[in-house]
Amino acid sequence: MTIDCPTRNAQTCQDRFAYTDSWSRLNRHVELIPMGWQRLYSDLRFTLAVISTKKRCTIEIAGAWEEDGLLQVQSDTTDRVVQGVLRKARVRAMHTCMECGKPGKQRELDEWRQATLCGSCAGPRLLALEIARLIALERCGSVDLRKELQSSPSARLVRAAAESAALACNLPATFVLEKLGRKGQLRWLERLKERAQQESLE
Ligand SMILES: [Zn+2]
Repeated sequence: MTIDCPTRNAQTCQDRFAYTDSWSRLNRHVELIPMGWQRLYSDLRFTLAVISTKKRCTIEIAGAWEEDGLLQVQSDTTDRVVQGVLRKARVRAMHTCMECGKPGKQRELDEWRQATLCGSCAGPRLLALEIARLIALERCGSVDLRKELQSSPSARLVRAAAESAALACNLPATFVLEKLGRKGQLRWLERLKERAQQESLE
């Protein structure tokens, strides 16, 4: 698709190409956009091409990329239609899993990273992080692992994962992670963490 804009003449008015230049940049940025957002990002570029008019040729659009699970694409134009199109894309991204495109929400993966993910894509990541946290706390002596596995609400996820892993390797139904000795628990946690990390990369 091509978009409507006057012939380039850099000497008279460079800004008259702001819209086409922005649109070309958005096209080049496809690779910076997560897989799960490709559909909405393509809709965004299509709509911007459809609404392109001579009147809008000086509008500049900044972006686009992903940051902390949010789509970064904006403009300081007062044109309500362009602002509406950009806002709609940002809102769609806020509710769309970056990995698979299913409905998702912004989740905190750790202190310095957020991502917009659906439950299935977030599960293995959150599990791996929770296990890593438990192992680290246990190693520095801050928690009693057995107690933590019994009482901490977030450890429910870990216990459930351990039970399903035990079932998968045909361990007796009486297997309970919290009842293993310290070494056995740590061994299990390491294995579960590796499994979850592997799953989150698939
Ligand atoms: Zn997903």
